[in-house]
Amino acid sequence: MATLVAFHAHPDDEVLLTGGTLARAAAEGHRVVVVVATDGMMGPVPDKGAPRLDELRASAAILGVHRVEHLGYADSGHGPLLYPDPPDRTRFARADPEEAAARLAALLREEKADMLLSYDPNGGYGHRDHVRVHEVGKRAAEMADVKRVREATMPHDNVMRLVRLIRLLRIPLRFDDAALRAVGSPSSAITHRVDVRRFAEQKQAALAAHRSEVRGDGRTAAVMRVLVRLPTPLFGLLLGREWYIEGPRE
Ligand SMILES: [Zn+2]
Repeated sequence: MATLVAFHAHPDDEVLLTGGTLARAAAEGHRVVVVVATDGMMGPVPDKGAPRLDELRASAAILGVHRVEHLGYADSGHGPLLYPDPPDRTRFARADPEEAAARLAALLREEKADMLLSYDPNGGYGHRDHVRVHEVGKRAAEMADVKRVREATMPHDNVMRLVRLIRLLRIPLRFDDAALRAVGSPSSAITHRVDVRRFAEQKQAALAAHRSEVRGDGRTAAVMRVLVRLPTPLFGLLLGREWYIEGPRE
C-alpha cells in the first residue's frame, strides 16, 4: 500500500479540494497524511492551542486520515495588505521558501511518501498562501525525491457554474469578478478526475467539523453553511468530483 501526503494552506482546504480523495485513499488501505502550512490564524495562538487545528484534526479523523501535521506558520490573509507577523510565528507568505520546503521534505522522507498532493500554480484562486503551497510543494518533492505530485485544482467552467448557482440562490459570496476569472484551471490542463461521490457523506461531515469557518463571517461562510445543510446526495452532486494536474517530475 502507498503513502499519500496532502499539503494544504489552511484548515478546511483539505476537505474542499481533496477531502473525497483522502477518504477514498484511506478506505482503499493507503496511509494518508495531511500537512497544513498555516493554522488558519492571523493573530497569536492562544494558550489552549489554535482552534482551527483542532477542527482540522476532527475533519481528518472523519476522512480516515492517519496523521496531521502543522508546519508552524501563521495565515497570511487574502487582502491587498500583508500584515506584520504576529509575535509568536511567521506568516507563511513571508517564510523562507527553502526552509518551509525543508520542513515538508523532512516529513515526506519520514513517511517515505509515494505521492504528494499540492496545488496548481495559482493555488486554486490566487490566495498568497495557496500560491506558496504550490511553490513549496514542488521544491519539497524535489528535495525528498517524491516523483508523483498531483496538483489539486478545479475546472474553471465548473467553478463559474457553481458561482452562477450561488448567485441565483442569493447566497452571499464576497469574491469580485476579477478574482473569479482567475479561479481554477482550464479543463485541458487537468489530467486526473477523481469520482468521490461515494464519499460525499464523509466529505460533508468533515466540512461541518470546521465549525468556526461554518459559523464565522468569512468570505465563504454563507456558502459553507448551505453546503453542510444540503441533503447528502445533492452535496455529492455538487462536490463529488475532485481534479488534479500531474506534476512535472513524471
Ligand atoms: Zn486556504
